[in-house]
Amino acid sequence: MFRHTAALIIAASLLLSACGTAEEKTSDNSTPAGESTTKVQEEQGNSNPTETGEPGTGVPEPSTEDSTVTEEEPESSEKVSTEEKVEKTYHMNENYYIKPNDEASPSKVVLLTFDDGPKEEKMITSLIDTLDKHNAKAIFFVNGYRVKSHPELLKLIHERGQIVGNHAWDHEDLKKMSNAEAAKQVTDVQKIVKDTIGEEPQFFRPPFGSGNDALKSAVKKNGMLYMTWSNGSLDWDKSTKDKPEKVIQNVLDQLNPGSNILMHELPWTVEALDELLTKLEKKGYSFVDPRAIELEAR
Ligand SMILES: [Zn+2]
Repeated sequence: MFRHTAALIIAASLLLSACGTAEEKTSDNSTPAGESTTKVQEEQGNSNPTETGEPGTGVPEPSTEDSTVTEEEPESSEKVSTEEKVEKTYHMNENYYIKPNDEASPSKVVLLTFDDGPKEEKMITSLIDTLDKHNAKAIFFVNGYRVKSHPELLKLIHERGQIVGNHAWDHEDLKKMSNAEAAKQVTDVQKIVKDTIGEEPQFFRPPFGSGNDALKSAVKKNGMLYMTWSNGSLDWDKSTKDKPEKVIQNVLDQLNPGSNILMHELPWTVEALDELLTKLEKKGYSFVDPRAIELEAR
């Protein structure tokens, strides 16, 4: 085989001399299978903005079926990470504020988070365009059932350099489940995210901020930092629907160094984000890179 190939190359290079195409000819079917594109089928606007604040409206789906994602990956157990290593210079305190580890890092920071996606390519793209404009990273806390419907949107978030967090499989109150059921809500998301983007989330936020010690220990066992928030934009609430200026005001009203800001993938939040980030910057705040936060609160 090798001899045959070598002979071909020699013969071809005699004929083609400086042309340099000989090698290509011997290996024309070796191109790796094309990566699936990030093409997104825009489906009927199935996002339901009001589901956020209401328990029990998440669509329960069996989580036991095989993931539909078949992207092949190297089978190494190590995380496939395209992202640079970020030094851990911050930690979270017991009230879910983000604090610098020492005075070398600024304390006037906020953590940006968007829950309940992934829903729509348009909203995600716009959020990330705005984040990029402000050089900011955020955590996108996703529900497993949504990832299952739109794995390509999870890839989009990841490929554009944003951070994926685990928001349980269903958007339901985990405290109302048995410990085993709640733990499965956590691990099923770890699995589908790993299968889709090659790495597991490192951050967990329970739906409605509702959890107990058993859940916290399941989250810890999965190597994640558990958090709720310390600054709620109330963008899920009726009072802010279609009112981007209220989203901004709500955040500014509760602003403190280290604020862990809860927002959602919702149209009025998408609309508010650029101005919100601009106002925060004017007040001297910067945006903490989630990867710089230690995975144990203290
Ligand atoms: Zn939520």
